[in-house]
Amino acid sequence: MKYPILYKLVCVFAFILLAGSVSGKKPIKTLIVTGQNNHNWQVSNVALKKIMEQSGRFVVDIAVSPAAGEDMSSFSPDFAAYQLVVVDYNGDSWIEATRQNFISFARNGGGIVIYHAADNAFSNWPEFNKICALGGWEGRDEKSGPYVYWLDGKLIKDSAPGPGGSHGKQHEYVLNARDEVHPIMKGLPKKWRHATDELYDRMRGPGNIQDILFTAYSDKSTNGSGREEPLMFTVNYEKARIFHTMLGHAGESLENNPAMQCTGFQITFLRGAEWAATGKVTIKVPEDFPTETRVTFRLDYK
Ligand SMILES: [Zn+2]
Repeated sequence: MKYPILYKLVCVFAFILLAGSVSGKKPIKTLIVTGQNNHNWQVSNVALKKIMEQSGRFVVDIAVSPAAGEDMSSFSPDFAAYQLVVVDYNGDSWIEATRQNFISFARNGGGIVIYHAADNAFSNWPEFNKICALGGWEGRDEKSGPYVYWLDGKLIKDSAPGPGGSHGKQHEYVLNARDEVHPIMKGLPKKWRHATDELYDRMRGPGNIQDILFTAYSDKSTNGSGREEPLMFTVNYEKARIFHTMLGHAGESLENNPAMQCTGFQITFLRGAEWAATGKVTIKVPEDFPTETRVTFRLDYK
């Protein structure tokens, strides 16, 4: 039997409506900034893009800077064209116009994710350090701000002198939730075991953490600080929504990349990124999320 054209059109229209309500939302326009890092950025930016796009919630462009030591004057990403900027960069200074554009993006309420070694970057750029709240290495010391760590049920600031930023040997460790009501945290377990990764410790900076989400104990037996370290938090900076995760040291290849193949890394990254972009979290906590004793992987980043 032949269907009349109007009937077909109505069917197509209904399908579009239904598809729209199932996915529910327009994908979040995202820019990953990379191109220089003391880490394997050629792996990390691809892994992050896969994690984000395969979730169905993000569409991702990549801005690759010139190589270290090259002329940076042409590097000027159009931050304002995006809802979300993921910083996967630790390298040469940006030109003043690029810095100003990034600060304007933040001040105007942009969403930002500070990912792993991005908080090593730009130790001499005060506004960037406020966007990170905490940073490490690159000459950071007591002039950068206090050490911040979890003690007796709260974050404390410790102005003792000393270098900022270190980590012991890579190992599996348990993340401890410090918030149950933040949209990123709702439904996540109070404790979950992360795959082998660095555990950043002795970080210091302005310390303008807004909500502390997860800490982990940096054990002296793995050459850590002996403190409960803030590893995932939001940052209080102007009108920006900023999610900072210190997890996710990139491996040697997409296939051998346990810290980023960890289900817990991927899901917390997605939820933090969605919150930074929109202020809400719709990405579900899946059945295979790690438990306190069991690490789980999504080897194909989905
Ligand atoms: Zn690292």
